[in-house]
Amino acid sequence: MTEPRLIEIDTRDHGIVVLPEPEWCTGVMHETFQPEPLRGWRRLRARLRRTPAVDYRPRRSEIVHQGPGIDITVDTGDGPQRLMELTLWQDPFPEPTWEQGTDVYINAYMLDDGSADYDVDGLQRLVTGLLEAAGQVRLVARQLADERRRGGR
Ligand SMILES: [Zn+2]
Repeated sequence: MTEPRLIEIDTRDHGIVVLPEPEWCTGVMHETFQPEPLRGWRRLRARLRRTPAVDYRPRRSEIVHQGPGIDITVDTGDGPQRLMELTLWQDPFPEPTWEQGTDVYINAYMLDDGSADYDVDGLQRLVTGLLEAAGQVRLVARQLADERRRGGR
């Protein structure tokens, strides 16, 4: 078994935090989001106001490992419709009240806007799509069980 890769994240409440990076993490949530550099008159105005610099570093509890999103999609009369997006998540430094603690879990982002009309053939395609979606969710459940068995690494 290979050693997990370590990453460093600069936090505003605990300084530099070093933590293992799970293989499945995309790392997108570890980027420190900086505002667009101010240009022209906005920059001049900010300088004149002596706007204090904003600290965009995350708090340690805001560090999140996020896996790639898995779309759960079914067929509609008007084409494919995303029902939800499933994503592996882990909060390596959770607040004490957070239900999942440091366990890996699935975040299901529900996309419930829009509507579609079905005839009999369309309903058959919907059934097929829902069964395929159920198979995808089952695969994600197995992946999550594997990750938890391995301790989230
Ligand atoms: Zn990560």
